[in-house]
Amino acid sequence: MTEAVFQRCIHPHCGATLGVDETTFACPRCGGLLDVAYDWPRLHPPRMLRDFESKWADRHNPLNFSGVWRFRELLPFAPPEQVLTIGEGQTILQKADSVASYVGVQPGKLFLQYEGLNPSGSFKDNGMTAAFTHARMVGARRAACASTGNTSASLAVFCSATGLMRAIIFIGSGKISYGKLAQALDHGALTVQIAGDFDDAMQRVQQVSRRLGIYLVNSINPFRLEGQKTVMYRVLEALRWEAPDWVVVPGGNLGNVSAFGKAFMELTELGLLQRLPRLAVINAAGANTFFKLFGQANLRWEGGKPDKRSIEDYYCKLDAEKIRASTIASAIEINRPVNLPKALRALDGCGGVVHEVSDQEILDAKAKVGAGGLGCEPASAASVAGARKLRQEGIIAAEDRVVCILTGHALKDPTATVAYHTTDQKTFEEVLGTRGVRRATYANRAVQVPNDLDEIIKAIELYS
Ligand SMILES: *Cc1c(COP(=O)(O)O)cnc(C)c1O
Ligand SMILES: [Zn+2]
Repeated sequence: MTEAVFQRCIHPHCGATLGVDETTFACPRCGGLLDVAYDWPRLHPPRMLRDFESKWADRHNPLNFSGVWRFRELLPFAPPEQVLTIGEGQTILQKADSVASYVGVQPGKLFLQYEGLNPSGSFKDNGMTAAFTHARMVGARRAACASTGNTSASLAVFCSATGLMRAIIFIGSGKISYGKLAQALDHGALTVQIAGDFDDAMQRVQQVSRRLGIYLVNSINPFRLEGQKTVMYRVLEALRWEAPDWVVVPGGNLGNVSAFGKAFMELTELGLLQRLPRLAVINAAGANTFFKLFGQANLRWEGGKPDKRSIEDYYCKLDAEKIRASTIASAIEINRPVNLPKALRALDGCGGVVHEVSDQEILDAKAKVGAGGLGCEPASAASVAGARKLRQEGIIAAEDRVVCILTGHALKDPTATVAYHTTDQKTFEEVLGTRGVRRATYANRAVQVPNDLDEIIKAIELYS
């Protein structure tokens, strides 16, 4: 290979390589996933992570303003003049002591990485700016995704903000939250609602994209994951370039954990980071393929040869028993995670673990996150619920420094939030009861008062 940037099959024993402008996103030899690969010595990688701080002073340059592209030396696949940015990645790492106490770690040791601050309200924008940039490099006119909501919202925003491409989104007929659907419609995406769930939509979008030559922006796209690596760079930066003990992230299609793992492997390879964090992936109990396979069936990366049979057998069993993913955390309501092998590699490299949490645990944790200052959607709170569980089981220690990724903004799914806090038992039952949520332990109920000044004053004095 003479190019300094190329695509490469993730399985070392295959090792097939492709040019950077290929858009099939599958290994032509073995069908496996692809990485964006770099011949680092030819690409002038940074010598110290601290060098990135100098870019703060040059925020008039959109590439330095972007929380993704100011790290461009660590994802050097695009010529700077081709980069499409809408100011993504302006996110914060916030210390949250009330959440620390809920999780069971010492004060000052728990941090929330708030990706809800992105332009479309979720971490997906980190990946979309990278995929979108690649789409422009290859001259795409149309871009498509299957989505539980946030990928489509992000794609719709990028298409409408730049006017460069037509967004085509596939959603299942069931659950997409209004916050996310609203964005797809408002930003003018062609929205195709198919009769099926996310896993069906995912299969179809791949077939359709191949047939019509439409650029695919799901996380099977390795360029998207390049952008998502930067979430970890920002976490490290906020911690003055010292890795935490744990990074806890919700697992859906497992793109994030795969990107995080790649980021840390590369930083190690480049000699930029001495100590790595451990990664913890949290599934919803109603969509727990990764937990079942990694946590219970001991599926491992095995140097690039994970046991394919056990994965296929598991999916056959899901089909035979007609098991569908089902959780209030719609963003991770996925039973066939497309990045499964990459996620295995990430956990192998970072001493990772997988756990699962119930919808009850997710909503309780979400209420604690909200009361602690940052609003998130249900899927995001799985990270906090999972950290608490890992702490209870002694896997995370009380003195460990823990970063939980809040993947999406609270306003993405107001229905779940209002149902949890509502005084109306019927609403609670209708929205949450079917998901096995029985209690709202941390509910902040509205106070009912007659329309009478004295009564109103009395109620305020009583409750405040
Ligand atoms: C997409 C999404 C996830 C799942 O991330 P994966 O990379 O697919 O595992 C989790 N939370 C939110 C809010 C999301 O939008
Ligand atoms: Zn291959």
